[in-house]
Amino acid sequence: MTDFTTTIDADGVATITWDVPGKSMNVMSLAGFAELDSQIDAALADSAVKGIIITSGKKDFAGGMDLNVIAKMRDEGGAEGIFNGVMHMHAILRKIERAGMDPKTLKGGKPIVAALPGTALGIGLEVPLACHRIIAAENPKAKIGLPEIMVGIFPGAGGTTRLVRKMGAMMAAPYLLEGKLSDPKGAKAGGLIDEVVAPDALLARAKEWVLAATDADLVKPWDAKGYKMPGGTPYHPAGFMTFVGASAMVHGKTMGVYPAAKALLAAVYEGALVPFDLALKIEARHFTSVLMNPSSSAMIRSLFINKEALEKGANRPDAPDQTVKKVGILGAGMMGAGIAYVSANAGIEVVLIDAAQDAADRGKAYSEAILDKGIARRKVTPEKKAEVLGRITATTDYAALQGCDLIVEAVFEDMKVKAEVTAKVEAVVGAECIFASNTSTLPISELARASQRPAQFIGIHFFSPVDKMMLVEIIRGKETGDVAVAKALDYVRQIRKTPIVVNDARFFYANRCIIPYINEGIRMVAEGVEPALVENAAKLVGMPLGPLQLVDETSIDLGVKIAKATKLAMGDAYPDGAVDEVLFWMADQGRMGKKANAGFYTYDAAGKREGLWDGLAAQYPLADAQPDLTEVQHRLLMAQVLEAVRALEDGVLTDIREGDVGAILGWGFAPWSGGPFGWLDIIGAPRAVELCDALTSRHGARFAVPDLLREMAASGQTFYGKSARKAA
Ligand code: NAD
Repeated sequence: MTDFTTTIDADGVATITWDVPGKSMNVMSLAGFAELDSQIDAALADSAVKGIIITSGKKDFAGGMDLNVIAKMRDEGGAEGIFNGVMHMHAILRKIERAGMDPKTLKGGKPIVAALPGTALGIGLEVPLACHRIIAAENPKAKIGLPEIMVGIFPGAGGTTRLVRKMGAMMAAPYLLEGKLSDPKGAKAGGLIDEVVAPDALLARAKEWVLAATDADLVKPWDAKGYKMPGGTPYHPAGFMTFVGASAMVHGKTMGVYPAAKALLAAVYEGALVPFDLALKIEARHFTSVLMNPSSSAMIRSLFINKEALEKGANRPDAPDQTVKKVGILGAGMMGAGIAYVSANAGIEVVLIDAAQDAADRGKAYSEAILDKGIARRKVTPEKKAEVLGRITATTDYAALQGCDLIVEAVFEDMKVKAEVTAKVEAVVGAECIFASNTSTLPISELARASQRPAQFIGIHFFSPVDKMMLVEIIRGKETGDVAVAKALDYVRQIRKTPIVVNDARFFYANRCIIPYINEGIRMVAEGVEPALVENAAKLVGMPLGPLQLVDETSIDLGVKIAKATKLAMGDAYPDGAVDEVLFWMADQGRMGKKANAGFYTYDAAGKREGLWDGLAAQYPLADAQPDLTEVQHRLLMAQVLEAVRALEDGVLTDIREGDVGAILGWGFAPWSGGPFGWLDIIGAPRAVELCDALTSRHGARFAVPDLLREMAASGQTFYGKSARKAA
């Protein structure tokens, strides 16, 4: 199998074409790198070759490095193996960059141009960055950039060092630190690439450039005499400000919990002080240290490998293709409107139903508003808007649901209302149609009782706001059949979100774990723990929102409603009285959260969050002795993590990969940890047991160690280890 092939034309231009067999997207493997290396060697050595074009045989250039390979490099070779492997890549890319030129005179090299037909990500941009010119085809769908930081690493094949030297630290920052991706025009405007041409002119233009290139065109600024880094180095008055500012900004955003962000900054700062080749070596050292950090392996595992596996249907039952053609959405409120948008946007015909026509129209107008925003940001064309809106029929007429192969119900959270609409729908749709409820709290198996076809009844639980939240929780009721699960999974794939499949139990998976997190925060307020300590402890351990902010966002009255319903269902076993006292008191004060402009936080007239509400202290005076930061963090993390373990023990979760991916995408659980199970593996089951035993003695039985975890501690198992349950 060959990933790269070279052809040489009559004018002496060698074209090296990247085209990995059997894949729709090029991905770099170690074998692929070796092939590229030998073909570059051959072309540089061949006196008939005047210059080289590196391009792709596919519609895109490349999706990046195969992260499985990186994981393997680490597992097999350790730090030394990674470092040597990375330095070898540097040598190959540096050879492309120097292209046979005399290192003293900088003359005599062969021009090498990267011609990108489409998307070029990660190593797919790092190889071009080593070339002498990057030309991309005009292609608004193409994405160009270095997204490594998003999975807990950073560009380690020279991308970091080259981009900073090419653009300056300030301009490179969004690409490196935020993984910003641009289309070719944006990438050209940002200075990431050099030229954008019409797609059919790509190779001709690349060839023209190669044939016209002079010695001077091949010398990278950093290899030329008198090179100065754009924007200045750390000891330059202008550069100083950038570096100090970047450091503060990164720590402000990441709270210091992401090793990759810190290592990236260090590589950039230290690299800026030394010559280019030494900077590459520094980059390699920091890259190695990041890859050896358990956080980066946990992030790669959950945010890349397992997320992708779930999206590709790792847990899809064996059933024929269930691609959705026409979806009926019941209830055009906040959720229904969002579900209509993501469905129509994915090319699915939508019937959006509400009880009154104006409510249905308002639901459709929600899509229009999102599309208009897209137009203003030039992400959407007016034609695309018309097309998407054209797919949505907003109506009150159930007869319009005829021909739907999927129904997603998002009416009021009320058993009776839901049962009524179920019966009305089943009277019009065909026998094959699958019925899904978006309920957040009602058991699917009970809702299914209103259905004539419980095997075709399922939960498809979206998170709000639907167009932004990437997780969809699919809930299998007692009688839900495989075809319904396959349908839900195929639908989620169509709307390009990430699915997890869980079994039916109170609050399913995500909400089941979020509620104890919120409750633990509120419980601490009742105990007199400084609310700012609670909130900051959460953020300093990587939670996007503190528990008090989270309950403000989701609303205090919703919390009250859920608490009352849970108490009713659990009776005397209900454990959260201390939490309710605070919650109900807040509701009595009319502090319903963000939507009321008053909650645990205060808000200005425009709804902007100001600070924690000081009226809380009068009701719940601060205790004289405040807990350590880590004690608060352990309480907040364990409240969620133990619930995830219990969900696994109870069989609600059947796959830890879903537990981890679902936690990060569903409620932002400390992404650096790779998820609750990832975190338990990082600290180890024995340490987790020790922590929980101590928490139980201080705070009560809710921290009691689940049997599964205690057994794992005793037998030395890890969740993702060989002896664990279903793992990656
Ligand atoms: P909402 O009140 O904004 O919307 C409900 C809509 O359903 C309203 O437009 C209402 O007019 C319509 N409706 C009510 N009865 C109807 C009927 N008989 N026929 C047709 N339309 C009817 O509520 P929402 O926040 O969109 O929630 C809808 C569902 O989604 C609920 O089950 C809720 O638990 C669930 N959910 C909500 C969230 C969230 O964050 N809001 C998240 C996940 C799931």
